[in-house]
Amino acid sequence: MSEHVPGHDANCIFCKIIAKQIPSKVVYEDEQVYAFHDINPWAPVHFLLIPKVHIPSLAQVGGEHAALMGHMMALVPQLALQEGCNPYPDGGYRLVTNTGAEGGQEVHHLHFHVMGGPRPWLRG
Ligand code: IMP
Repeated sequence: MSEHVPGHDANCIFCKIIAKQIPSKVVYEDEQVYAFHDINPWAPVHFLLIPKVHIPSLAQVGGEHAALMGHMMALVPQLALQEGCNPYPDGGYRLVTNTGAEGGQEVHHLHFHVMGGPRPWLRG
């Protein structure tokens, strides 16, 4: 029997990754966030940055999450360079958050895709 942890959804694959019940290739971790390599990368560098608290998508983000969202955004440039994205402006990366069915979201735990590396991976 598993204990209920506040902010954790026992049926969520990303909550299981945070809890180390499913293995992942870690990029960064602190008390509030976890970042790991995407299992099916679309770019030479492709990792996901997620909050540890279970928020289903960007649609559920509100003012109470402002500090957490700021923390996550401020981490993106640091982690992108750490993972091998080339520096701005000739390098750079793409930040994507699919939201809901019409936004193409498959995993319902808020995540930011960070994708970069040498072209020609970039489309559109
Ligand atoms: P979404 O379409 O924005 O929800 O993207 C979900 C992403 O999670 C996809 O790019 C998947 O490849 C990725 N993903 C799903 N399961 C795992 C996993 O177990 N480890 C790492 N990435 C995963």
